[in-house]
Amino acid sequence: MFEISAIPAFKDNYIWLLTRGNRAAVVDPGDAAPVIARLSRAGLVLETVLVTHHHADHQGGVRELLTRWPAAVFGPASESITGLTCPLSGGERISVLDVALDVIPVPGHTLGHLAYLAGDALFCGDTLFGAGCGRLFEGTPAQMAASLALLAALPATSKVYCAHEYTEANLRFARMVEPDNPAIARRVEEVAARRGAGLSTVPSTLADELATNPFLRCAVPVVVTAAAARGAVDASPEAVFAAIRAWRNAF
Ligand code: ZN
Ligand code: FE
Repeated sequence: MFEISAIPAFKDNYIWLLTRGNRAAVVDPGDAAPVIARLSRAGLVLETVLVTHHHADHQGGVRELLTRWPAAVFGPASESITGLTCPLSGGERISVLDVALDVIPVPGHTLGHLAYLAGDALFCGDTLFGAGCGRLFEGTPAQMAASLALLAALPATSKVYCAHEYTEANLRFARMVEPDNPAIARRVEEVAARRGAGLSTVPSTLADELATNPFLRCAVPVVVTAAAARGAVDASPEAVFAAIRAWRNAF
C-alpha cells in the first residue's frame, strides 16, 4: 500500500498525495504550486495523476505538473480533463504505484464523477464530504442518491478522503436535520476541537458518515420526517435526499 498525506490548496481543498518510496501520485491537483513544492522538497517523482471530475479546483494544476513530470493522467472519459491519458468510465480496476484501485462511477455532482478505492482508502472528490455531499451541478437527485448508496455500502472502516474541508459547516446543517442525534453532537465537539487546533477533519471513516451524515441517512425516520416538512414528495430515499439537498442549498 502507499502512504497518504494531504497537500492543502486554495481555501479549503485537499490534494491527496500518495507515495511509495520516491514514487508519487496525486488526486485532484487543482493547483500545481503546492504539489511541486511538496514533491521537490521530498525528492518525489510524480508518476500518476488521478482526477475525480472536471472542475478547475480539481484539475487546474495538471497542465503545469505535466511540464515537469510525464505522468499518466486518469479521469472521467466523458469530461474535459487536461492531459487525460487513461480515460475511465467506472468499473475498471487500475494500478497506481503498483497498488490496485477500483474505479467507482458516482454521477451527481458532475455526470462523469469518479471515486477511487484503494484498500480502505476512498478518494471521493466532491461526492461525499464530512457530514455532507456535493452540490448537484449536473446530475439528478436520484443519480446522486444512488451514487451515495454505492459508497455507503463499502466497509464501515473505509476512510473517506474527500476533496474539501467542509465538515464543520456541514455538521451545523446535520444538527438542524437531526437535533437529537448524539453522534452528531459528539462529532460537533470533536470537529470543533480539531479545527480549533488547526487540524484537518479529513479523512473520516464511513462509520462516522453513516452515523452523522444526513445524506447517508435518508431512510432514518427522523430524517424522513424532517424532509417531509421541507416538501419531500414521498418517503422514498430519492425524494428524501432531494428535499434535504435543496434545504442544504438554502441553509
Ligand atoms: Zn467540484
Ligand atoms: Fe471542489
